[in-house]
Amino acid sequence: MSRIAYVNGRYLPLSHAAVSIEDRGYQFADGVYEVCEVRAGRLVDERRHMARLDRSLREIHLARPMSAKALSAVLHETVRRNRVYDGIVYLQITRGVARRDFAFPPADTPVSVVVTARGSDRARLEQLAADGIAVITVPDSRWRRVDIKSVALLPNVLAKQAAREQGAREAWLVDEAGRVTEGASSNAWIVSRDGKLITRSLGNDILAGVTRSVVVDVVKAQGLAFEERAFSVEEAYAAREAFVTSASQIVLPVVRIDGRPIGNGAPGLIATALRRDYHRHAELS
Ligand code: PMP
Repeated sequence: MSRIAYVNGRYLPLSHAAVSIEDRGYQFADGVYEVCEVRAGRLVDERRHMARLDRSLREIHLARPMSAKALSAVLHETVRRNRVYDGIVYLQITRGVARRDFAFPPADTPVSVVVTARGSDRARLEQLAADGIAVITVPDSRWRRVDIKSVALLPNVLAKQAAREQGAREAWLVDEAGRVTEGASSNAWIVSRDGKLITRSLGNDILAGVTRSVVVDVVKAQGLAFEERAFSVEEAYAAREAFVTSASQIVLPVVRIDGRPIGNGAPGLIATALRRDYHRHAELS
C-alpha cells in the first residue's frame, strides 16, 4: 500500500505529494509543525498538540488555516487512509508560496498545509525502552525562541547525527551555564539521588513538550517529589535515573550519558512506571 499525504486540500500518494520550491518552508524554514502519537488508530493528546500549534502559529504571526474541527478531521483521515494503528501523524504549516523575499508575503497568500502519517514498530520501541538508551551532551547552539515548534531544526539535526555517530540515540543540549535544556527531539528528566523528579521549567529555551506536560500532571497528582528547574550535566551523571519524553517515544529511560552509566546502568523504576501508565492519563481521540 502506498502512503498517502494530505497537501493543501488533497489526499495524494506520497510520490505525487509536493509543494513548490518557492514554499517559504523550503526557502526560510518559515513554518511550524506538530507530531502526535497514534495509538490503536486514535490520536494521543490531540487537544494539547492543537493548543501548542495555535500558540506556535500566533508567535510567528500566521493565521490558523482552517477550523480546529476541520484540522482534526484531516489528521484523523490521514491516519485512516494510511491504515496507521500505532505510529505518528505529522502536520506542517508554512507561510505558503511566494517570490523569495524575507519579509512576509501578501496577507492573502494561502498557507501550505501538509499532513503525513506512518506506522511505527511497537515491539522495537518497547525493546528500546526495556534496554534504555544512551545519550550524549552537546552545546545548545539554537536560537532563543525554541518554545516555538518551528521547522528550523538544523541544530537538532546536527546534534542527533553526532549522537548517532557516537552510538547514542539522543543528544542532550547544554546551555552556557552547563545545564541541560532538553533533548534534540525530546524533553530531558532526571531523578536525583534523593528521589526527586527534575525537569527544566518552561521558558523560551525549551519546547513545552506535550508528553512532558502530561507527565508533570501525573507526577503532581501522585504527589511525587518534583522540582521544575534546570539541572547540570554533573547532576545528571550522578542521578539515580534519567529519561526523555516525546510524543513518538513517550517515556524512554536513559541508561548512559556521555558513556557513563546512570544509576545501576539499567532503566529506572520511576521512568519505567511512568511509561507503563502513560496512556491511562493521556487523552485519546
Ligand atoms: N523538545 C524538542 C526539541 C522536540 O523536538 C520534542 C519533540 N517534538 C520535544 C521536546 C517533546 O515534545 P512532545 O512531547 O510534544 O513530543
